[in-house]
Amino acid sequence: MEKQALLHEGKAKSVYYTTDPDLFVMHYRDDASAFNGVKKEALDNKGRVNNRFNVFIMEKLEAAGIPTHLVKLLNDHETLVKSLDMIPVECVVRNYAAGGICKRLGLEKGQHFPEPIFEFFYKDDDLGDPMINESHIKTFNWATEAEIKEMKALTFKVNDFLSALFDEAGIILVDYKLEFGRHKGKVILGDEFTPDGCRLWDKETKKVLDKDRFRQDLGNVIEAYLEVANRLGIPM
Ligand code: C5P
Repeated sequence: MEKQALLHEGKAKSVYYTTDPDLFVMHYRDDASAFNGVKKEALDNKGRVNNRFNVFIMEKLEAAGIPTHLVKLLNDHETLVKSLDMIPVECVVRNYAAGGICKRLGLEKGQHFPEPIFEFFYKDDDLGDPMINESHIKTFNWATEAEIKEMKALTFKVNDFLSALFDEAGIILVDYKLEFGRHKGKVILGDEFTPDGCRLWDKETKKVLDKDRFRQDLGNVIEAYLEVANRLGIPM
């Protein structure tokens, strides 16, 4: 297996073809981006930290029975993954009020929801990833009813598993975004799970340990990611 041409350059990762059509190389760059690419910066170590963070989480999820695209860690910045036919929707689960839902519904940040809230967004940078519902997904053939059901079930399963994992490390899993794709007829977890795509607060102090540090110019972004990694026992 050898890395070949670039398939896609995202805001923080690049995906490459390989000599095996069933495999892609995912390269985590040292780039940070927020507000649909309006705020951009290079952050030392970010690629390596997120790459290792993601492999640790995906391995845990696999062990918990959640199918993922992970094949193996290749080096500091790269991971080998299964090639997926990505479904163009983002699945967001919220356990506490923060970010987008506060703005949209006028909620106070920090409120704990009696049950997790699930939201779908359409993945389209030009449109600013608008919120959608199942009817849009079915009407525009972005996914079938069975695939929608599977994405929701897997996203909730991830919530149960990861909320407990972070809780043991003294961290609240506030919210997160997942993306899924098709592989040999099955819906499996793609993309990444890192502090770039979730909100994590210290249980006692409510210190922000995720990408909101970058969005809000709080400083020590990678230091916070490393603190989470260290508490989870992720080798860096
Ligand atoms: O911005 P919002 O509050 O809707 O984000 C909810 C969660 O999904 C946050 O953890 C955020 O980091 C993540 N997210 C993401 N990529 C997006 C949109 C949201 O990782 N394009």
